[in-house]
Amino acid sequence: MSRILVTGANGGIGLEIARELAQKGNEVLITSRDLAKGKDAQSKLGDEGLAVTLFKLDVGSEPSVEELAEQLATEYTYLDGLVNNAGVFQDQHTSLENVQMDVFRQTLETNFYGPLLLIRNLLPLLRKSGDARVVNLSSGLGALNEMGGGYPSYRISKTAMNAMTAIFGAELSKDAIQVNAVCPGWVQTDMGGAGATRTVEQGADTPVWLMTEERRLLPQGKFLRDRQVIDW
Ligand code: NAP
Repeated sequence: MSRILVTGANGGIGLEIARELAQKGNEVLITSRDLAKGKDAQSKLGDEGLAVTLFKLDVGSEPSVEELAEQLATEYTYLDGLVNNAGVFQDQHTSLENVQMDVFRQTLETNFYGPLLLIRNLLPLLRKSGDARVVNLSSGLGALNEMGGGYPSYRISKTAMNAMTAIFGAELSKDAIQVNAVCPGWVQTDMGGAGATRTVEQGADTPVWLMTEERRLLPQGKFLRDRQVIDW
């Protein structure tokens, strides 16, 4: 059994990742920026016979990240997994020329600086695992090899997340901490919308696999979709 933290797990892909990790017998810690929504998710999972522990976290706030890390350090001696799932998609209808700078900054704070700070602050606990894994929920929209127009701050936040994944992958191998990024595909969630082609189960599959598969079978510092390494 591993102890795994999933951010933004009050809905969407994060909730499904938390559900499946708990179904597989792991100790799951979920976070939500809104405790009422987090409690709803916790009781939904409880009704399914799955006990998870809830923490408050606004990933776009450095003090909130630090507060969570301190709280976890007082309550636990180690952490086996971190799923950086929380994210925002706020610039669907604009261009790099016109995107409002506050939207740009907020997107980077949530989708890039938040995951970066969370990894940095949780490294002491992750180092104590011996088989720690970090999964970053990224997007094909951030892949340079297929970069196009539109969604500018979202794309750039995920490109930065991908670079962070490769760098941490290289730097943390010596600590037995596996770091990978995943594109879940276009998933039916609040973010993905009604037209999305994939279910939350399909979106959660690769992150759950990376958390639970035997370590020697997994890549390090790579970008994956459907359990396969893809181009950055
Ligand atoms: P979602 O349904 O919109 O859920 C996003 C989650 O992130 C929610 O729990 C949300 O909380 C949380 N969140 C947003 N900002 C936060 C903040 N500042 N602090 C803490 N939590 C915050 O989205 P999703 O589709 O499940 O997406 C999950 C991840 O997959 C994201 O990183 C997304 O970029 C990525 N992804 C999704 C798709 C897709 O098609 N859906 C495609 C590619 C990548 P609230 O409920 O409080 O807003």
